[in-house]
Amino acid sequence: MAMEEIVSGVYGIGMGYVNAFLIAGDDGLTLVDSGLPRKKDRILSAVAGTGRQPADLKHILITHHHIDHMGSLGDLMEATGAKSYVHPLDSPIVRGDRPQPGPNPASLLGKFAGPLLARFGPAPTTAPVDVEVADGEEMAIAGGIRALHTPGHTPGHLAFLLARDGGVLFAGDAAANVFRLGMPIGMFTADRQQAKESVRKLAALEFEVACFGHGRALKGEANLKFRRLAEKLAR
Ligand SMILES: [Zn+2]
Ligand SMILES: [Zn+2]
Repeated sequence: MAMEEIVSGVYGIGMGYVNAFLIAGDDGLTLVDSGLPRKKDRILSAVAGTGRQPADLKHILITHHHIDHMGSLGDLMEATGAKSYVHPLDSPIVRGDRPQPGPNPASLLGKFAGPLLARFGPAPTTAPVDVEVADGEEMAIAGGIRALHTPGHTPGHLAFLLARDGGVLFAGDAAANVFRLGMPIGMFTADRQQAKESVRKLAALEFEVACFGHGRALKGEANLKFRRLAEKLAR
């Protein structure tokens, strides 16, 4: 089972191409994102791997409404009693009050892949949203986590900054580190210009470690790499 301790008490759960993260704290466990649908058991076995029980999972922070990030949210909430946290611009889609928008039709790939994904991709799931989280909100979770509204990839995309080890950023899909640090592939990004602004916003913060929805974590001076990416995107 692919579980990596990224820094003390922060675990990456690799599930194929997408990651979720567990944070152990005095207040129990916090999960960042929930993988595709039907990943409940996979995530609960990661919970067991940290020596805790399902009921110890107290908070599930969702970076954005895409199915590979919120797919197992409802199942996990039911199994653990954890509370969910989503930005108000993405919560109607998580709740199922609005349909998943699908890939950006303005991107060439999205135009062709969109109908295929709608037909063959994972069926949408929905989940209750307990807490709508605004930009800059300091949450007394896991020793202190700040929510950062980082729109572009989706309108309500959130990144989370954990006040630990010089700062641990959970970037969601605001950036990815698959081959190298960059933007996630365009067809899933709703507004590329806004997404660039969000990279700039993250690059201005202090953090040593960055964790991504897709790709490997950056350890050590991760914010400098974000600054270089922001400069590159500005050219
Ligand atoms: Zn996404
Ligand atoms: Zn993603």
